[in-house]
Amino acid sequence: MSYETVIGLETHVQLSTASKAFCSDAAAFGGAPNTHTSTISLAHPGTLPRLNKKAIEYAVKLGMALGCNINRRTYFDRKNYFYADLPKGFQTTQDRAPVCMGGSVALKVPAGQRTNPVIRIHHIHLEEDAGKSTHDQAPHHSLIDLNRAGVPLLEIVSEPDLRGPEEVAAYMEEIRRLVRWLGISDGNMEEGSMRCDVNISIRKQGSSTFGNRCEIKNMNSMRFAKRAIEYEVNRQIALIEAGGTVEQETRGFDVAGGVTFSLREKENAHDYRYFPEPDLPPVVLSEAYLANIKAELPALPAETEQLFQTRFGLPVYDAEQLAQERDTAFYAQQLLETAVVQYSGKDLSKTISNLLINKLLPWATAENKTLQECPVQPENWIEYAHLIESGQLSASTAAQRLFPALLDHPDKSAALLATELNLLQSADSDFLEQLVEEVLARFPDKVAEYRKGKKGLLGLFMGEVMKASKGKAEPQSTTKILQEKLK
Ligand code: ADP
Ligand code: MG
Repeated sequence: MSYETVIGLETHVQLSTASKAFCSDAAAFGGAPNTHTSTISLAHPGTLPRLNKKAIEYAVKLGMALGCNINRRTYFDRKNYFYADLPKGFQTTQDRAPVCMGGSVALKVPAGQRTNPVIRIHHIHLEEDAGKSTHDQAPHHSLIDLNRAGVPLLEIVSEPDLRGPEEVAAYMEEIRRLVRWLGISDGNMEEGSMRCDVNISIRKQGSSTFGNRCEIKNMNSMRFAKRAIEYEVNRQIALIEAGGTVEQETRGFDVAGGVTFSLREKENAHDYRYFPEPDLPPVVLSEAYLANIKAELPALPAETEQLFQTRFGLPVYDAEQLAQERDTAFYAQQLLETAVVQYSGKDLSKTISNLLINKLLPWATAENKTLQECPVQPENWIEYAHLIESGQLSASTAAQRLFPALLDHPDKSAALLATELNLLQSADSDFLEQLVEEVLARFPDKVAEYRKGKKGLLGLFMGEVMKASKGKAEPQSTTKILQEKLK
């Protein structure tokens, strides 16, 4: 009997606002414990929260990018529970009227999987984070750091539309790209700016009802999430195959042992006694406010990928690589656009894309810089691409010699530098004919074999001419001359 895995995700994204959701404490990651706190985040009696406007704006931006409906009237609720890292005794969150409803994420999953599944979003709500508890630093003591208490989070709740660990990874990647693109979060999983609760159930292949689910809390690494899902799916299958049932519960993942374990029975909404937050007025979003945000929204990653393909004729792979980050995409688009204007009729796009993907992006990663910070001016990169595209410079000589030379001498033009370094290829026929004759004279046997029909030897002659010219023989003209002389 084969089973299908059904997964729904609750993804928490920490917003990169300067201050917390309901007070002016710094929201920055890190800092000495309990320094980003105030009477409000410490929940002193009589203090009152005040909403951070930026947090709402960020929630609306993400909602628009994911095609959600934005609630015109949104408000907060209290979710009551006791834990030492939650000084108020309740979390300020949204239950009944979250900022965003509906929407979806289109996935690109590797071949062999479902093709481009669309994962529906149930809703996105705004809430605050709790503090951080540490139980393993001192014997018999738990340590509490409230720097994180009150930091704004968006919780993106998906429908149970995901079908396995690869889709979960693709979904998280897509959310990460989008929040970074929109500039609302750094999406950094290691620092906890993005984490998810994974709800998993299994059902018999072809069944249309859902099985009971378990929720694995707080996955903050894709690698661990994948292992946790695989373990949990096998555990549930074994239970059912043995004639048992899956109990709905909340589980943790033990990284060292690679197993999930029961934390508690699944709590129900009524256990939290949700009720509307009396200290924060409802937020009413006007049409003008929403229109303003919409107008400021940048072109989105998917549209940008499309543009790279249709306007510049780039392959899907290139388009995806160039649209990973907004700054890269913006730089690439400018470069490609300028080249089109400057060299109308000559298509430099693929050469420019190769330069970006194979040379400039690795350079930026190694130097920990953005492309915008590269000392070589964009016009100079266009000239570099033109030298290759017009056959004056071989792509490999460009990559190995001219690229590093330009970075060392960013003020020199690509053409000047290539000339100074004697890198330009020659299509000069006297020069090429002489080289070809020298090479053919060195291989009389091979020439005879070629003439008897072993045409594959052309490659050998080409290679020898190239070597003799130190890479400067222009390939097309060289081939022509070789074929002439070999007739
Ligand atoms: P709660 O609010 O009690 O955590 P929800 O019904 O809101 O429960 O669902 C939470 C998450 O669990 C959602 O992402 C949803 O898609 C997912 N989910 C619900 N039912 C299942 C199921 N049978 N299998 C897997 N995931 C599920
Ligand atoms: Mg839940």
